[in-house]
Amino acid sequence: MVLRKKPSSRSKKFYQNKYKTNIAFRDKEKKRINSYVSMKYHTSLNTREKIKSQSKIYYFNKYRDNSNFRNRVKTQSKITILNKYHSNSNFRDKVKTQSKITILNKYHTNSNFRNKYKARMKTEVLKKYYTNNSIRLKMIQTALNSYHTNKTVTTQKSRQLYNQRRRILKKYSNIENHKSIIKHSSLYIDKLKQFRKIIQEGPDYVCISCALALFRNQVIPFIKEKYSKEGILSQIEKHIQVNFNNNSSMQQQWICRLCSDKMKKQQLPARPISNKLEVCKIPSELKRLNNLEKHLTALRLPFMKIVNLTSGKLSSRLSQKGTKGPLHCVPSDVQETVTTLPRPVDKSMM
Ligand SMILES: [Zn+2]
Repeated sequence: MVLRKKPSSRSKKFYQNKYKTNIAFRDKEKKRINSYVSMKYHTSLNTREKIKSQSKIYYFNKYRDNSNFRNRVKTQSKITILNKYHSNSNFRDKVKTQSKITILNKYHTNSNFRNKYKARMKTEVLKKYYTNNSIRLKMIQTALNSYHTNKTVTTQKSRQLYNQRRRILKKYSNIENHKSIIKHSSLYIDKLKQFRKIIQEGPDYVCISCALALFRNQVIPFIKEKYSKEGILSQIEKHIQVNFNNNSSMQQQWICRLCSDKMKKQQLPARPISNKLEVCKIPSELKRLNNLEKHLTALRLPFMKIVNLTSGKLSSRLSQKGTKGPLHCVPSDVQETVTTLPRPVDKSMM
């Protein structure tokens, strides 16, 4: 006992016995000790600190060893925090900002979490969209508004393309309705299927002679022995050596049909890289010319016959165009025009 100073062993025994057997005495003693400890706790700083650290250690140990106690403490602290959250608005705001910051940090650093969050938001929005009619209408209205107010070049272009496609589809459906030519639609669908099959792989095949990226049906595998026959023109041999021997990679090499045919006929292909034909960069002052200015300053005027590729079912404005026959490039002398424009103020009669 801390409270009894130098107790003799006999009186100690007596005291312990009395404490064990006499309930009233025990209660009294407990009260006395409690009041003494609380008095000491409030007056002596040292004792207070000691008691605090002791009780801390005691609780830590209990928390660690006793799972029942641990669970109880957890539920209690949960309830306390919840109560605090609902009653104390300051605390609530603090918790909210903190959790916001944590989630933002997690969103930006943890890609897994980000993807999950996105997917969850998407499903939630979709669910809302499909279940709540008023929200659906609102979302549609918002999207329409943003579509109509967005005036960037890309959206304008895509809008134009969309409208054009819609017009063409309408024409096609009209044709089907009026003439009911099943053959026509099946032909269209067949052609489309064929085209889709061809472009399935994408233009991943690079011609070894002209370096164009082409689709699979436009190229054939390149076998060098086919082209290096005897009596070959030295020019072509040089072309083959320059272009093809450098390319020593082990992967399959391809050549386009056009280059292949020309080289089989012992002619140099028209558009290989060794011809150094390339489109040069347009200077900035020529980039933004209108049609009239382009015609006035063009060094070559091309003349060609343009035809509609589809038959007369579609209006000529919408159908795909192609050239037919020879193309003439007429050089034009624009030196005078270029040097006199813009007209000086005194000669413009304004
Ligand atoms: Zn080629």
